Amino acid sequence: MSEIKEPYYETVGKEIEIFQVAADLRLPLLLKGPTGSGKSRFLEYMAFRMKRRLITILCNDETSSVDLVGRYLVKGSDTIWQDGPLTHGVREGAIVYLDEVAEARPDTLVAIHSLTDHRRILYIDRKNEEVSAHPDFLLVASFNPGYQRGFKELKPSTRQRFLSMDFPYPSPKVENKILMGETNIDEKISKRLIEYANMVRNKPELGLAETISTRLLVSCAFLIRSGLPPRLAARTSIILPLTDDPDTIASLQDSFNLIL
Ligand code: ADP
Repeated sequence: MSEIKEPYYETVGKEIEIFQVAADLRLPLLLKGPTGSGKSRFLEYMAFRMKRRLITILCNDETSSVDLVGRYLVKGSDTIWQDGPLTHGVREGAIVYLDEVAEARPDTLVAIHSLTDHRRILYIDRKNEEVSAHPDFLLVASFNPGYQRGFKELKPSTRQRFLSMDFPYPSPKVENKILMGETNIDEKISKRLIEYANMVRNKPELGLAETISTRLLVSCAFLIRSGLPPRLAARTSIILPLTDDPDTIASLQDSFNLIL
């Protein structure tokens, strides 16, 4: 069996300490932050450190409790029960990550209720079974706060069931370390990319549904490292993925051309 390499993760603040305490106390955690700000990478890293399996469930508006908990399947003349990913994680003591939990259907949130308090129990209503969570089971969810358009809100009654951690985009200094650490990009170019990102992030008037994330900067740095001219790299990995509006595309490209 090949050994799993430690995921590269650059510490941003006190996230490792907070996560460790939450895991020791077996309390669920909500990671709040925009897309591409390092939440998944952080969890991969923590799961590696804590030697636990990470099960990620990407929620969307079709995600229902059945997708998480499990379903009956017909196999020939038999009907067999198949555990869903949440049930797997609860039984074996994994870190279960509900990415973009607010997007899921309301019955999903009902299904996790009894797992988020002292009971740590999962009810499988279709089987009339109660599963007590393994001591190592940890529930983590992520949520993209409402300051960006197009994302659903999370009900206060659900939010209060989780400890919360902030995952904003990192400071320029840390983001520079991430870009260089992840892609080996030249420091001068890395700093220019970050300067560009922060300029765009501070311009809500551009009307972008989402702004330039660390993920997009990493993609751009990879393209430049692979030999694409920086302006074309930015267009391909940052500008076109962010918008279809011709004026905004032109404006984003012009600003980039002034920087690199
Ligand atoms: P999210 O889950 O918040 O949408 P990801 O964890 O997938 O975002 O982060 C996107 C990419 O940004 C990662 O694949 C990684 O390349 C980079 N990244 C972001 N933050 C960090 C960090 N602190 N350390 C290392 N890489 C990071």
